[in-house]
Amino acid sequence: MSAFEKIFLIGTEWDFVGEIVLRSIVMFILILIVLRLSGRRGVRQLTLFEVAIIIGLGSAAGDPMFQADIPVLYAVIVFSCVITIYKLVTLLASRFKAVGELLEGKAMIVVKDGLFDVKHENDNSYSKMEFFAELRNQSVEHLGQVRLGVLEVDGTLSLLFYGEEDVRYGLPLFPTNYKHVDTAVSQGPFACMYCGLVKDFVGDKFKCERCKRDRWTQAMNTRRIG
Ligand SMILES: [Zn+2]
Repeated sequence: MSAFEKIFLIGTEWDFVGEIVLRSIVMFILILIVLRLSGRRGVRQLTLFEVAIIIGLGSAAGDPMFQADIPVLYAVIVFSCVITIYKLVTLLASRFKAVGELLEGKAMIVVKDGLFDVKHENDNSYSKMEFFAELRNQSVEHLGQVRLGVLEVDGTLSLLFYGEEDVRYGLPLFPTNYKHVDTAVSQGPFACMYCGLVKDFVGDKFKCERCKRDRWTQAMNTRRIG
């Protein structure tokens, strides 16, 4: 037996193949119905709780498609339970704030007045790299454009910007400008590469007073376009 046969065909019961097609169609329709019943409009971003629900539905949906000894009814029972839990918990979360926070976490201020909020620097709940990427996705060139940034529980970032006239110097977010500079030979203002604090002059090996780090880059103050 070739490796191909061993991997792809071993133990195939050809009589069952037609039934797999039928089972798959039935399960697919059931999944759609259940997702419609959940009341969600789409799944651009999911909270952790919703991911748990999707995993629950997904594993129950897959097995009856190709396992002869699992009747579709089992999956329907699982679906009913999962969707009932979802509805119930969502209802509780909307009534009681504490339940919602326990389940999905809280929205978190991550940028304030053009600076990263260093309160969260020891949190593992968001990675700086991801966060930079999200800011770039929203066409933010540097932190001096951002008045307030809030990380929502579904992982999206909500931003409020400074008006054109109020844009200040800030930490660049694109790799072309986010570069360590030697503060002894460059012209300021400089921005702390970690927290975004801006200083006009920075001495050699000068430590940022907010985050105690000593890496600086050239700050920029371009306005926001578009
Ligand atoms: Zn700093």
